[in-house]
Amino acid sequence: MSIRPTIPERNITEMSLDAIQTLMEELGQPRYRAGQIYRWVFQRGARSLDEMTDLPKTLRGQLAEQGYTVGRVNLGKVAESVDGTRKLAVHLDDGAAVETVLIPMGENQFTQCLSSQVGCALDCQFCFTGTMGLSRHLTSGEIVDQVILGRQVLPEGARISHLVYMGMGEPLHNFDAVVSSLTPICHKDGLGYSHRRVTISTSGLVPQIERLGQTVPVNLAISLNAPNDEIRNEIMPINKRYNLKKLMEALREYPLPPRRKMTMEYVLLGGVNDSAEHAHELARLLKGLSVRINLIPWNPFSGPGYDRPAEENVRAFQDILLRKRYTVTVRVTKGLDIDAACGQLGERPDPLVQVTEGDI
Ligand code: SAH
Ligand code: SF4
Repeated sequence: MSIRPTIPERNITEMSLDAIQTLMEELGQPRYRAGQIYRWVFQRGARSLDEMTDLPKTLRGQLAEQGYTVGRVNLGKVAESVDGTRKLAVHLDDGAAVETVLIPMGENQFTQCLSSQVGCALDCQFCFTGTMGLSRHLTSGEIVDQVILGRQVLPEGARISHLVYMGMGEPLHNFDAVVSSLTPICHKDGLGYSHRRVTISTSGLVPQIERLGQTVPVNLAISLNAPNDEIRNEIMPINKRYNLKKLMEALREYPLPPRRKMTMEYVLLGGVNDSAEHAHELARLLKGLSVRINLIPWNPFSGPGYDRPAEENVRAFQDILLRKRYTVTVRVTKGLDIDAACGQLGERPDPLVQVTEGDI
């Protein structure tokens, strides 16, 4: 199977507002109909042409006759954690599946974590998604549809206030679809998010970071995870292509809007990158950059043989960076009981099969 998905031409969720306008002109309709359709799909979450009741019936009939459809993903199982985190299985029309997670962030607000690929090619040693390899990129519509499904399973009165591209996949490896998905997400006739409420997280694809900076003013998060090349080469193979020197250069050049900070994600792996010396080294590496550091105690899965860091190491690591005047937060682990925490997303074999394998 190719990693490039086939993009159905006549699926409205994959179309730009311009393309819908052109279509309306071809069908002899006024241009404002395009805005109406766009709002039905992205604001009101319509899943069929039939739901668009204020469009003339003849137009709906014409569109259906020409094979136009809306949306192409289906909601699968929804798992709910004791802490309120919800993990949604998202079934794609070729039989593949991804996961998206709604994370409660205070009163009636959720952050949604979006997937950008089925699996991931980058093979970071501490990440469950990385063990799957890459099956394929998602299309722009498949990314936006995750938000539309997410809204359907929100508790009464709650809303999704922030979107983070931190689910399955490396968003900047699927650059074009990810950037296209930001148009309906941030358009006033679409989902209407301000760019400030959207964050793209990357393992450090340097040329694409440069391109992103020229393209859209969303927040940037970098999965740094190591204070030097030696450790980073070991846990993130991408570092052999774009080492820390190249990555730091790109970040120093990044056109960050005034008063905004980049996020540096740092997964703490017990005994690997969590010592006091590593914290000092990290402080030196980030000197002069406008960053907030987010420490993420490693979320376990069986296989790679890492340990969660000791609680006191996490505190000591944070303290060293705080004393160097960095903004440092420790990410509260959410959704661990349903395998929805950072780096745990991806298909798992049926538990019964696992038991059988263990017995052999
Ligand atoms: N591919 C992108 C976005 C998805 S990963 C990236 O790497 O940035 C989202 C975050 O989860 C990254 O910061 C990654 O370092 C972190 N992560 C991956 N596996 C993890 C695990 N097992 N425990 C804790 N965090 C993990
Ligand atoms: Fe891919 Fe990100 Fe996981 Fe690395 S951490 S394997 S880039 S999803």
